[in-house]
Amino acid sequence: MVSQQIDRQIAARLAASGIRYTSGRRRVVGVLAAADGPRSAAELHDDLGRKVPLSSLYRSLSVLTDAGVLAPHHGSGRIVRYELAEWLMGHHHHLVCADCGAVDDVELPEPWESALAVLVSEATAPQGFIAASHTLEIGGLCPGCLNPEQGTRSKGAGIG
Ligand SMILES: [Zn+2]
Ligand SMILES: [Zn+2]
Repeated sequence: MVSQQIDRQIAARLAASGIRYTSGRRRVVGVLAAADGPRSAAELHDDLGRKVPLSSLYRSLSVLTDAGVLAPHHGSGRIVRYELAEWLMGHHHHLVCADCGAVDDVELPEPWESALAVLVSEATAPQGFIAASHTLEIGGLCPGCLNPEQGTRSKGAGIG
């Protein structure tokens, strides 16, 4: 479910750019708002019950990305995954499973987030760089791959 607030923010953003917030685009946003992390086009296609042609799904993803509503995530192999942009969902980082390729969102407690921002600034300042943002990508194994018999994730979820 998309919260009404997020839905209104997206509608306003698209209207300002003269882009229609079609029912198809609304469904893509709804699935991503309910997801635990970024989803690939193939995963979204499954999430949407394969009722939407892939071509129009790709078109929605590209329109919503250009409008700044979606952020593409390039963390795992060559597969691009999409999520709602941080101005909608809040700042967070990513856990990327090296085995199945699943990507989960993770938020750090505020004191750690502040400390991280300081570390990033100090580490990049010697290169004359002013750090304004950061996103951690943490590689490892997800619970499903660590304990296959208990896991709910299907193998190959990251393929395609
Ligand atoms: Zn995994
Ligand atoms: Zn994310």
